[in-house]
Amino acid sequence: SAMIEFQNVSREYRTGDHVLKALDNLSLKIDKGEFVVILGPSGAGKSTLLNLLGGLDTATSGKIIVDGENIVDYGDKALTKYRAKSVGFIFQFYNLIPNLTACENVELMKDITDIDIYGGKILEAVGLRGHDNKFPAQLSGGEQQRVSIARALAKEPAMLLCDEPTGALDSNTGVLILSLLQNMCHEKNTTVVIVTHNSKLADAADKLIKIKNGQIEEVTINENPSDVN
Ligand code: ADP
Ligand code: ADP
Repeated sequence: SAMIEFQNVSREYRTGDHVLKALDNLSLKIDKGEFVVILGPSGAGKSTLLNLLGGLDTATSGKIIVDGENIVDYGDKALTKYRAKSVGFIFQFYNLIPNLTACENVELMKDITDIDIYGGKILEAVGLRGHDNKFPAQLSGGEQQRVSIARALAKEPAMLLCDEPTGALDSNTGVLILSLLQNMCHEKNTTVVIVTHNSKLADAADKLIKIKNGQIEEVTINENPSDVN
């Protein structure tokens, strides 16, 4: 059965008597360990979808079932725990803490999990051996994104949610980052959901979900996904 299921999910924004449906009665399923790419034009509802799945935002109606539980029913405490333990976030602009080193940024996750975290080891796994003691400003954009991936992986989350993870990178660096995410997905059986408007990723996805105007336009299951390149 699916690890993640959206059942008739809507997210509405009201201003006066105008209602904007950022997500409009959307349903989808994602399996454990899938490398999922969500494509769609600006304003389609991609970030909204990811924020709802990550517990950063709440649905107006519908169910979001994760490992058998409807997270829409969660109160603040349960939602905070869910975000901390189950979800790793990767953002366009890395969101690293500037006055902490790469290693300290990764080990920060110790505070919110019960896992022993060795920052140096995780940084090595994302190709950053020897960069432990550098501050974010001393690293390139691609290196900073690797640190943020290491930080997300440190929690050993069930899912990695990535919002335009290559949006601030040149295309060669972007490919290396996407390839790292694909490898981590397949090696660790972590479910990876990437939101992008870059259609180059289409062939590399296990599942490609196109959304438009808050609705599913098309879902494609790729039996033979290519390596990102
Ligand atoms: P995408 O990520 O695909 O660009 P978003 O999920 O950011 O799309 O936005 C979907 C729609 O919801 C857009 O029309 C956007 O303007 C609107 N929207 C998103 N967040 C808010 C908000 N906080 N208040 C009002 N409208 C919003
Ligand atoms: P993206 O398309 O990558 O999601 P945006 O620039 O559309 O980025 O949105 C950035 C942030 O602004 C989001 O967190 C979203 O919730 C908020 N936002 C987007 N559209 C609106 C809007 N029309 N009114 C208020 N907030 C918005």
